[in-house]
Amino acid sequence: MTQVEYRRKRRHHRHHSKRRIAFAYIARAVIVLAFAGIVVFMGCGFMYVRDFLSGDTQEAVSNQNLQNQDGTVIEILDISKQEVASNAADVLGAEVVEEDFPVKDIEKADTKKADTKNAGTKNDIVKDETKEEGWTVVLDAGHGGKDVGTEAGKIYEKDINLIVVKLMQEILEEQGVNVIMTRDTDVFLSLQERVDIANEEDPDLFVSIHCNSYEDDSSIKGLECYYPEGSERGEEYAKYLMEVIKQCKDISSRSYREETYYVTEHTEAPAILVEMGFMTNDSECKKLNSASYQQTLAEELSTGILHGLEEIAEDSTLKKTDS
Ligand SMILES: [Zn+2]
Repeated sequence: MTQVEYRRKRRHHRHHSKRRIAFAYIARAVIVLAFAGIVVFMGCGFMYVRDFLSGDTQEAVSNQNLQNQDGTVIEILDISKQEVASNAADVLGAEVVEEDFPVKDIEKADTKKADTKNAGTKNDIVKDETKEEGWTVVLDAGHGGKDVGTEAGKIYEKDINLIVVKLMQEILEEQGVNVIMTRDTDVFLSLQERVDIANEEDPDLFVSIHCNSYEDDSSIKGLECYYPEGSERGEEYAKYLMEVIKQCKDISSRSYREETYYVTEHTEAPAILVEMGFMTNDSECKKLNSASYQQTLAEELSTGILHGLEEIAEDSTLKKTDS
């Protein structure tokens, strides 16, 4: 090798090692970026799990919906922490997370309910966002104000209805249900006004509470539940409610059946009407007017309503999985 040749070779070599160093830097940059990406992704996963445990899943789930329906990846990466978290949850699989962590039954059912709505139209999802609190139930205390309902001496149906409904409101709210009252004082409301309240709120269930009367036969007694003609959901809610009522030895009960009333027929949501007992039966009327029986009724009716909400939410999830 001559000296010229040797120099040329060294220059060549130097050139080569410069390129090699540049490649090494690029490779390192790529590795560092990839690592940063993994850390961010894990952070998102952790945030989702933490939010899940603190009960924020509903929002995460509904955000996920929006993404599944019409969102591109860019739309998701674009925005808030919550959405990034839900995106990560999507990749991790929300179902695995749901099974790994113990949640109260009622919260679980809430999540399922939100899942069920995923299958629906875009309108359903928009509605869903206003329902972050879980189930909404409209309670309608029959009669009120100038309309006293059935009378037995100085005992008015409107008062019994209102007392029981207010107790139910307390019980259901304790269980995390969003309760809307058509009235919570002794005021007159037309049937249409009650329907309007229900339709404005778009609840999961509308329940109208009354006391019965049957002048022809004072021996007739017992709680009854009605659903409007042709309403499958109404029938299911009535069935589940009566399942609970039948278990209670303190309450005598009759049947649940199709019978159409103005309020249950015109409410867009599933609707039932409960006649808690017959004021034309002396012993039942006395019970209806007693605080302890009113408390029993409120507890059992609330349990029956929750039973129906849970069963129907679960049933819808099953149907969704089957299809
Ligand atoms: Zn009535």
